[in-house]
Amino acid sequence: MAQYEYDLFVIGAGSGGVRAARLAAMSGARVAVAEEHRVGGTCVIRGCVPKKFMVYASEFAHHFKTAKGYGWTIEGATFDWPTFLAEKDKEIARLSGIYVRNLQNAGAELAHGKAKLVDAHTVEVAGQGTHTADKILIATGGRPWMPAELPGIEHAITSNEAFHLPELPRRIVIAGGGYIAVEFAGIFNGLGVETTLIHRGPNLLRGFDDDVRSHVAEELEKRGITVVLGAQHTAIEKTAGGFLNRFSDGHERESDVVMFAVGREPYVEGLGLESAGVKLTDKGAVAVDDYSRTNVENIWAVGDVTDRINLTPVAIREGQAFAETMFYDRPTKFDHEMVASAVFSQPPIGSVGLTEADARKQYGKVDIYLARLKPMKYAFGGDERSLLKLIVDCATERVLGCHVVGPDAPEMIQMAAIAIKMGVTKSQWDATCAVHQTLAEELVTMREKHLPMGLGQVA
Ligand SMILES: Cc1cc2nc3c(=O)[nH]c(=O)nc-3n(C[C@H](O)[C@H](O)[C@H](O)COP(=O)(O)OP(=O)(O)OC[C@H]3O[C@@H](n4cnc5c(N)ncnc54)[C@H](O)[C@@H]3O)c2cc1C
Repeated sequence: MAQYEYDLFVIGAGSGGVRAARLAAMSGARVAVAEEHRVGGTCVIRGCVPKKFMVYASEFAHHFKTAKGYGWTIEGATFDWPTFLAEKDKEIARLSGIYVRNLQNAGAELAHGKAKLVDAHTVEVAGQGTHTADKILIATGGRPWMPAELPGIEHAITSNEAFHLPELPRRIVIAGGGYIAVEFAGIFNGLGVETTLIHRGPNLLRGFDDDVRSHVAEELEKRGITVVLGAQHTAIEKTAGGFLNRFSDGHERESDVVMFAVGREPYVEGLGLESAGVKLTDKGAVAVDDYSRTNVENIWAVGDVTDRINLTPVAIREGQAFAETMFYDRPTKFDHEMVASAVFSQPPIGSVGLTEADARKQYGKVDIYLARLKPMKYAFGGDERSLLKLIVDCATERVLGCHVVGPDAPEMIQMAAIAIKMGVTKSQWDATCAVHQTLAEELVTMREKHLPMGLGQVA
C-alpha cells in the first residue's frame, strides 16, 4: 500500500464523497478529496438545503392567507428577494465551512480543482498535479440535463441558476414534471411569480402513486399554478420584454424566466473513466455492484453518479457502507428497499414503499385504504385537501406502501418508514393508538377498504 501517496482518493466532496472520506480518514487511512466547485456538493450548495430555504420563504404568503380566517389582519407584507438571497448564501457558506472543517478534523486533505483519472491508481487534479492512491472513490454526483436541440434552449436556466436569480421574475415558465420542477413551481408561485408548469407526460411526478400524482396536480392548480400536461416546448424566443415560450399544443406563453428541470444525468464528463477502464451502464451511470465497486477492482462509486436512488441520505449511506467495508473490515451493503422520500411541493408529499400499481404487479391482490380530507387548519378558509393512502398485501397483511399529501407529510413519512421497513402488518399498524388532533392520526384509523371508483365506495 505504501507505494501509493494515499490509501483513498475521493473525487467529489458532496454528500457521498464527504461521508466516505471522513470515515476512511477517521480509521487512520491517508485520504485526499478533490472538489471542483464548493465542498458540500449539490445538496448543500444548489440542492436540498437552499431549496428548502426557498420553500420556507415562499410558504409565508399561504400562511398569511390562512391567518386571515383566524382573525389576523396582515397589511403591507412584502418580500425582498435580495435580503433572502443574502441570508441564504450566508447560511450555505457556513454549512460548506462546516463540511470543510469536518474533513480536515478527520485528517483528510482537500484538493480544489477538477479531478480526472489517468489510470486505475492515478488522479490528476487540474492545476495541482497528479496523485496516486490505492483505492479511488468516484462521487461526482449528477447535473441538470438539457434538450440541446430545442431552439432557444440557451435562454433557459436550470435549478443551479434558480438559486441566484438577480431579481425575482414577474412570470416564469418551468418545464418538467419531476420533483424539482414541482417544488420550484410552488416556490415561485408562493413568492408571487405568475407560474406555468409544463410537462410532456400525462401527469406530474412519474414514479409516485397515481392517486398522489393527480391529487397534487389539482392542489397546485388550486394554489394558482397553471399546469399544462401532455405538451412540451417547441421553441423559446427572445422578445423585447422577456421570452416567448412556444408549446407543442399550439399555445404560447410569455415569461421573464424559463427554467428547465426535465431530468438530471450522472456527471462523468471529463472524468477520464475510459483511461482507467471504468464501465458505464447503458444510461451513462457508473456501473457498480451491491458494494458500490465498479468493474475495476480498486475503484468504487457512490451517489447520483451511479443513478440508483438519487437522494442525499442514500448517497451518504452508500458512502458509509463503502468506508465500513473497506476501512473497518465490516462488509456492508446499503439496502435500497423501502427508502422514504419527500417532495416539498405545496402541499408537500411523503412517500415510502410501493405505489398501488407496482404493488398490484408484484403482489397481485392488495387492499387499499384511502382518505381525502380537509386539514383542520383550513376549517376557517381555503379548500385544500389532504390525501392519505395505505397499500396492504392481502396474503400477508403487510403494509407495502404509505403515501401522504398534506401539511407535514415529509415529517410523518420518516416515522411511518420505520414500521414499514420492519415489515409491519395492517393489524399491528391499527393497534397503534392515534395521536389527536393530528392529520397523521388518519393513518392509523383507516379501517374501510377503498374500492375503485364505480365499485361502491367513492373517494
Ligand atoms: C434542486 C435539487 C433539490 C434536491 N432536493 C433534495 C431533497 O430535498 N432531498 C434529497 O434527499 N435529495 C435532494 N436532491 C438530490 C441530492 O442533492 C443528491 O442526491 C445528492 O447531493 C447526491 O450526492 P452525491 O454525493 O452523489 O453528489 P453531489 O452532492 O452532487 O456531489 C458531487 C460533487 O462532486 C463534484 N465534482 C464533480 N465532478 C468532479 C470532478 N471531476 N473533480 C472534482 N469534483 C467534482 C461536484 O462539484 C460536487 O460538489 C436535490 C437535488 C437538486 C438538484
